[in-house]
Amino acid sequence: MSTNVLAFAESRGGELRRAALEAVTAARTIADASGGEVHAVLFGAPGIGKHAAALGAHGADKVLVVEHAGFTHNNPEAVAATIASRMGSGCRACVCTASATGKDVAPRVAAKLKVPIAADVIAFEVKGAAIQSTHPGYTGKVLQTTTLSATPAVVSIRPGSFLPKENAKAGTVEALAPAGDPAASRVRITETATGNAARLDLGEAPVIVSGGRGLKEPGNFKLVEELAAAFGNAAVGATRAVTDDGWRPHADQIGQTGRLVSPDLYVAVGISGAIQHLAGMRTSKTIVAINKDKEAPIFKVADYGIVGDALAILPVLTEAVKKAKAAG
Ligand SMILES: Cc1cc2nc3c(=O)[nH]c(=O)nc-3n(C[C@H](O)[C@H](O)[C@H](O)COP(=O)(O)OP(=O)(O)OC[C@H]3O[C@@H](n4cnc5c(N)ncnc54)[C@H](O)[C@@H]3O)c2cc1C
Repeated sequence: MSTNVLAFAESRGGELRRAALEAVTAARTIADASGGEVHAVLFGAPGIGKHAAALGAHGADKVLVVEHAGFTHNNPEAVAATIASRMGSGCRACVCTASATGKDVAPRVAAKLKVPIAADVIAFEVKGAAIQSTHPGYTGKVLQTTTLSATPAVVSIRPGSFLPKENAKAGTVEALAPAGDPAASRVRITETATGNAARLDLGEAPVIVSGGRGLKEPGNFKLVEELAAAFGNAAVGATRAVTDDGWRPHADQIGQTGRLVSPDLYVAVGISGAIQHLAGMRTSKTIVAINKDKEAPIFKVADYGIVGDALAILPVLTEAVKKAKAAG
């Protein structure tokens, strides 16, 4: 059995995504436990190979660069075919991120090779030849443990669950030819709608301040924006109740039918804590909830709770964060 582990290194618009470093970091754990190497697979238009050094700095022994104009946009069919072909020539596992891009790739790889997959994993342990993974089930009500005893296997990790760790390895660059012609893929991206580039992506932000219907009206979201700005490294999220009402863009929605996030800090403001919302954020490392109803279900998952009117509390909290930041 080969002990090497592949990591799918996501990029977008020619830039490496944090997901790539998370995948390499998680792959390193498996490779170290098995005595193997991490081979990061990086797809993109010609020139994408310039990011190989960053992957090497985070634990990739080798970076397989697949440069082709057909990878200018996400090309899940061709990416999955190339990864599956590489896995077929010997590998212990493949790690992807359970981001929108990764979710389009990981199951295709598993299906092509008819190998097991553990999806949306938040932690794992390597036990001999098996990978024992933990992932939320039943919209986050339970944590399931899955043992992947077959090799190779595919693991998709929840964004934010494996913090990128610097761990300098050789990062040797090798060109890899795509399996088949990427331009002939049945999936063609005709348009990519990008969000506000000046804002941190929800999947990459260490802090998320999220608002719900308790904010009363869309204009009050500026209080949430101000708290996020005070943190400096925060993104703004929302519940479905407010995205459905058009207060916030759908891209901001967190939950079962929105984004899955695991930031270091999640501040839930005026959010009841419906199971569908919890499904997207309950694996956050620290949860702070602000709600005027002390019985609100969000307090069951919160590490810290503030009972009161969010409209009065937010400005005070923002000032406190600003002061703490200024004091260093
Ligand atoms: C199939 C399906 C999928 C879904 N997917 C998602 C999903 O992905 N994400 C998601 O979020 N939801 C999802 N939902 C909707 C979910 O069930 C809830 O309706 C939604 O999360 C509620 O949003 P909310 O907490 O903003 O609003 P509410 O449930 O109305 O809660 C508002 C909260 O604000 C508090 N509040 C009111 N005034 C104040 C104040 N002045 N200060 C402080 N607190 C105050 C209230 O006490 C209350 O707890 C889904 C539902 C279904 C059926």
